Amino acid sequence: MNKEATDFLVELLQTPSPSGMEMEIQKKWMSYVQGFAHEVKTDMAGNVLGILNPNAPFKVLLAGHSDEIAFVVNRIDEKGFIYFDKVGGISQKLAVGMNVTVLGNEKTITGVIGANAEHHGGIKDGFAIEDLFVDCGAVNREEIEKYIQIGDLIVYKREPEWLMNNRLSGRGLDNRTGAFIVAEVLRQLSDRKLSVCVIAASTVNEETNMGGAYFAGAGVQPSMAIACDVTFATDYPSVNRNKYGDIRLDGGPVLAKGAPINIKINRLLEKTAKQLDMNLQYELTPRSTGTDADKIRYTGQGVPVALVSLPLR
Ligand SMILES: [Zn+2]
Repeated sequence: MNKEATDFLVELLQTPSPSGMEMEIQKKWMSYVQGFAHEVKTDMAGNVLGILNPNAPFKVLLAGHSDEIAFVVNRIDEKGFIYFDKVGGISQKLAVGMNVTVLGNEKTITGVIGANAEHHGGIKDGFAIEDLFVDCGAVNREEIEKYIQIGDLIVYKREPEWLMNNRLSGRGLDNRTGAFIVAEVLRQLSDRKLSVCVIAASTVNEETNMGGAYFAGAGVQPSMAIACDVTFATDYPSVNRNKYGDIRLDGGPVLAKGAPINIKINRLLEKTAKQLDMNLQYELTPRSTGTDADKIRYTGQGVPVALVSLPLR
């Protein structure tokens, strides 16, 4: 990756994009692809599309969702503590003690997630999300309500960081990496002569309702589509690889196989990987993929789809 691309990835990862509030990240994605796309469009759902060779009849849609899982303000008590609920499939297990950013309308507020201490008879190992609260340091409800209201979104306050072996740690790698990858593919194709139209889409709402992907598919009416998302690596201790397969961080892209996936696209991807001497890994998606691929497939007369995933721990 070149420096500009790496900086763009880090910028995406630093931008809060909870599902339903993707405006800021979409603007950044848009301004990046404007540098090389032949055409850039948005739609009513909030997707941004970067397009190469727009007049070619065969259209390839590459979709990566830019939204991330988060929390949402559910109740503010008289002391100014904030109780919250989930946006998407986020686990409360990791939440205790985390710093958060509450995304208020006018400004963002920093807080820490707390719980009744075990010393005081409070939470033990098993606890529910309603046992937790955000402490922003406010002294009462009036003070916090100047900035925060019910429905405001909350993300962990975490910076992307490079670990050993060029590995990246960060919040919401699912799936700002996918939005990044489809933009990068577009950039790398932009100086080639193409016989097909290529559309990279940064989609919204995948983590909650997948509406973005549906409207991207319905709007573009692609000839085929490839969703780019993340999947679980299994190269960490204790995971049952007999059940979940063998997926390594450095083992190459992961192709999904299963009923929703178009076999011809997979064969083309496999052939191309072989030509490039690139290792592939596999995951099984027998019924559905749980990604943008499912919703794009259900648009128009049925779009042939594939799913390529980046392994994450
Ligand atoms: Zn995802």
